[in-house]
Amino acid sequence: MSRWSVVGSGVAGLCVATLLAEQGETVEIITQPDCRAASHWAGGMLAPWCEAESAPPQVIEWGQHAASWWAKRVEGVEQQGTLVVAPPRDSRELTRFASMTEQHQWVAPGEVEPALENRFARGLFFAGEAHLDPRRALQQLHDKLQQAGVPIHSGKPSGKIIDCRGIHAADQQPSLRAVRGEMFILHAPEIQLSRPVRLLHPRFPCYLVPRASGHFMLGATMVESHDSSPISARAMMELLSAAYSLHPALAEARITESGTGLRPAYQQNLPQVRYENGRFFLNGLYRHGFLLAPIMAEKLMLQLTQEISYASGT
Ligand SMILES: Cc1cc2nc3c(=O)[nH]c(=O)nc-3n(C[C@H](O)[C@H](O)[C@H](O)COP(=O)(O)OP(=O)(O)OC[C@H]3O[C@@H](n4cnc5c(N)ncnc54)[C@H](O)[C@@H]3O)c2cc1C
Repeated sequence: MSRWSVVGSGVAGLCVATLLAEQGETVEIITQPDCRAASHWAGGMLAPWCEAESAPPQVIEWGQHAASWWAKRVEGVEQQGTLVVAPPRDSRELTRFASMTEQHQWVAPGEVEPALENRFARGLFFAGEAHLDPRRALQQLHDKLQQAGVPIHSGKPSGKIIDCRGIHAADQQPSLRAVRGEMFILHAPEIQLSRPVRLLHPRFPCYLVPRASGHFMLGATMVESHDSSPISARAMMELLSAAYSLHPALAEARITESGTGLRPAYQQNLPQVRYENGRFFLNGLYRHGFLLAPIMAEKLMLQLTQEISYASGT
């Protein structure tokens, strides 16, 4: 019997369970093995300043400490910054991006990423940003929880429910909507990049995030849709042609995987901690699950602490 039952083992659920276990609380994780998490498809960028282009100011404020939160708990957090470039004909996009964001400097992209030498005249470098491999990071949290004796199963919850089911919680949270994201994993060992590179484009922006052994995550579409079916031909053509304009050698990349994830979003595209119908919810992480789950889990802990001291009469 556990005091807390975290339902869902995406990034939200695993961050919450990690903090509960660190505080010595008894916690179990309820999983649904056949159900793919949005977290599985994520790029793993921890990029609060770049995200400010389209996100509310809270995302910068809340996301700044994500890299250090992750680095304390998992291996493989790369603090190498983000490079933003645009094709010459769209270089006004870079000027616009610079005016919407902070904490960057103008650079010659080839000086930051030699693989991009002579491809782009100028770029923006966000030195304070980081990235990780989401699957590797979540596997490490999962393994540590298991080693700490946290039960992880797909049976009935025995404790007070903390609902971290992502878009699947829309049955209890009608204001949740899905934002479909399509992506690829490419294998291109001849291209060396050390950090995420974002390519600006008025219609088809894309990004490439380096993973181990010559792999890259190429993402991602943003479609207001609850459809989790495989990647569309249109998304495939747009993403791959954008990648090709980033580096022509990507034409020879091997596509090892494609996928579709549903990002859970509330109306303002900001995550929330809620208490409704007798359960806690942490949801609405939208396109910032790895960036904002740590702080949202900490916000949830504050609410749970109140519940714990109320129950124990302290
Ligand atoms: C293509 C793409 C790229 C992205 N890139 C980034 C990025 O670079 N940086 C970033 O910070 N964010 C990124 N995101 C966003 C991030 O992935 C999401 O915000 C995050 O994954 C949401 O996490 P979650 O735990 O709330 O939901 P999910 O990851 O969807 O997890 C929900 C979990 O609940 C489980 N579940 C559902 N129903 C039940 C049930 N009845 N019982 C038990 N378990 C259940 C599911 O199996 C799943 O494990 C990206 C998303 C996509 C799709």
